[in-house]
Amino acid sequence: MSISEELPVADYDVLVIGGGPGGYVAAIRAAQLGLKVACAEKRTTLGGTCLNVGCIPSKALLHASELYAEAAGGALSKFGISFKGVELDLGTMMKEKAKAVRELTDGIAFLFRKNRVTWLKGAAAFEGPNAVRIGDETVTADHIVIATGSEPTFPPGLAPDGEVVVTSTEALDFPEVPRRLLVVGGGYIGLEMGSVWKRLGADVTVVEYMPSIVPAMDADIATEFAKILKKQGLDLRTGTKVAEIAREGGRARVTLEPAAGGPADTVEVDRVLLAVGRRPNTDGLALEKAGLVTNARGQIEVDGQFRTAVPHIRAIGDVIPGPMLAHKAMDEGHAVAEWIAGRVGHVNPAVIPAVVYTMPEAASVGLTEAEARAAGHELRIGTFPFLANSRAKTNRDTAGFVKIIADAATDRVLGVHILGSMAGTMIAQAAQAMEFGASSEDIALTCHAHPTHSEAMKEAAIAVRGPALHI
Ligand code: FAD
Ligand code: NAD
Repeated sequence: MSISEELPVADYDVLVIGGGPGGYVAAIRAAQLGLKVACAEKRTTLGGTCLNVGCIPSKALLHASELYAEAAGGALSKFGISFKGVELDLGTMMKEKAKAVRELTDGIAFLFRKNRVTWLKGAAAFEGPNAVRIGDETVTADHIVIATGSEPTFPPGLAPDGEVVVTSTEALDFPEVPRRLLVVGGGYIGLEMGSVWKRLGADVTVVEYMPSIVPAMDADIATEFAKILKKQGLDLRTGTKVAEIAREGGRARVTLEPAAGGPADTVEVDRVLLAVGRRPNTDGLALEKAGLVTNARGQIEVDGQFRTAVPHIRAIGDVIPGPMLAHKAMDEGHAVAEWIAGRVGHVNPAVIPAVVYTMPEAASVGLTEAEARAAGHELRIGTFPFLANSRAKTNRDTAGFVKIIADAATDRVLGVHILGSMAGTMIAQAAQAMEFGASSEDIALTCHAHPTHSEAMKEAAIAVRGPALHI
């Protein structure tokens, strides 16, 4: 008997479980590299959390609500543009958001067809290390990639009811503007969705357990960010915890307490958004049948090639350790396909940008000042305010600054943090510089177009070693 008769041929070279940014990129790239690929996805559309109920619908509402706030709030009158009778048609805003989501999720289905990736529709569960059941069908694959993403997590004792107490999914689809919204968690979702509903007319209170909002971000950014958001009317209650949420008819009475203990306070609101983080999702996967376990945080541990304890099964995206960000998942999807195809995949966990898409945006890459000091670096730090940047001044959007943190001895850039209207776009330059191992001098000596917000990056780099020019 020949070897080919002895060994059954698997249905696919690669089976990807989950069609989010990690999974769909892995599937497309593996197919581009000549492998026979299937992707199991239980949603009725591809694109995962990000395209369906995450990055895309939230950015659609952030953009639309910003336009509304500018028109309705009179912010444009200083440019000689004034509006009479500005009205919010929330239904139309939501329809436009849904259209953006549909176009993008349909786009992934198109890319699957174009690259001959088979979409297996349904929830996948392991039957063995190489066998996975999807609906009524069991398929086998030589390589399996787990890309099942994440789900919202909740504070102890507090759970959503899907109506008054909700997660980001419902907060992307409120049928009317709540009069009063309480957001639990001053992180990405809390500040983005809090901003959306504030701009559309809600009174918004954000309750954050830690002493500052976005506690993982650089402290200087977080402090200035909080000041600006407060000026926009967000009621930020840091160092505060939610002790109880009592539903009263269609509303909620929420008991708040100082995190350090002290007298309680109650607020009555129409909606409560729980936004205190997400947990890796391995629900229903029957990992044990593949010989896999999760760590104490529910994540699947992997090595540098995204291999789990069972080497032909790999995992990427929100379900493994690291920041839960779509671009990190996508880069891992690309890299994992390269490794499976016998090539070298590259993701640098030290250079993953992060952006909060409020106005202004807050963006960062690399180490915060506190992290860099804790790692034993002597630092040189350069900052430059948008108040002194010609383009920001021209556009009348001068909030925020750029902060570049460099190692004092080598001048290597260790971290870049930006608060500003263009921060999310500008951070790409910093990520690229860091990926190339740039010094602050490299950035300072790079010619930046004038007049652009990016000149603030050059000026902050100059400020690392001496005085900036335009201040
Ligand atoms: P997911 O996108 O969660 O995809 C996993 C997929 O697997 C899902 O479609 C799920 O249905 C499917 N699945 C799970 N189990 C099974 C199974 N057993 N069988 C079949 N299919 C299964 N990140 C950013 O970088 N930028 C942003 O602006 C941003 N905004 C966000 C806004 C919100 C409101 C939220 C909630 C998240 C946001 N994120 C953002 C985070 C981003 O969405 C995630 O980091 C990203 O989607 C993770 O990709 P993933 O492929 O690992 O998982
Ligand atoms: P998050 O981790 O960004 O923020 C959660 C916040 O809640 C933290 O500041 C935390 O200190 C606070 N918190 C925790 N428990 C609390 C409690 N009991 N009471 C009050 N505050 C409490 O999580 P998120 O905002 O839910 O978003 C989940 C993940 O989704 C993010 O970590 C991020 O990875 C991703 N995301 C990214 C973007 C983006 O890239 N722009 C946008 C939305 C979501």
